[in-house]
Amino acid sequence: MDDFSFVPSIRGKSKLALNGFLCRHQRSRGENHYFRCERNDCPGTATLRAVNYNDTNGKVDVGKSHVHEADDRRDQVLQMIGNIRKEAATSSLLPMTIVQQHRQNVDAEAAKILPSESALW
Ligand SMILES: [Zn+2]
Repeated sequence: MDDFSFVPSIRGKSKLALNGFLCRHQRSRGENHYFRCERNDCPGTATLRAVNYNDTNGKVDVGKSHVHEADDRRDQVLQMIGNIRKEAATSSLLPMTIVQQHRQNVDAEAAKILPSESALW
C-alpha cells in the first residue's frame, strides 16, 4: 500500500503527501476524493477512497504519473511548513516574512522545492 499522509493548512485545505509528491484536493464525489499535483505544470493525480477527503484511514490509488522526480527532501520541507504555520499563528510578522526567514534555514535544493508563499496559505 502506498504511504500517504496529510499536510494540514491553516486555511483548512489539506495537501496529500504521497510517495514524495504533494497533491492538492480538487473535488470529491461521494467517497472518491480527487487530488492533483501541486505543481501546475504536472498532470500527476491520485484518488483517495475514504469518507472524508482528509481521512488517513482511506485508501489511495495513484493516478496519472508525475513528470518530475519525487522530492527526496519532502520531510525537511514538510517539517518546515509545519513550523512556519505554527509560528504564523502566534507571530505578528507577515506570513511572507516568516516564510522568507525559514527559507534561509534550509539548503538551496530544499528551498527550490518549497511551495510558493501563496501555496502555503
Ligand atoms: Zn507532480
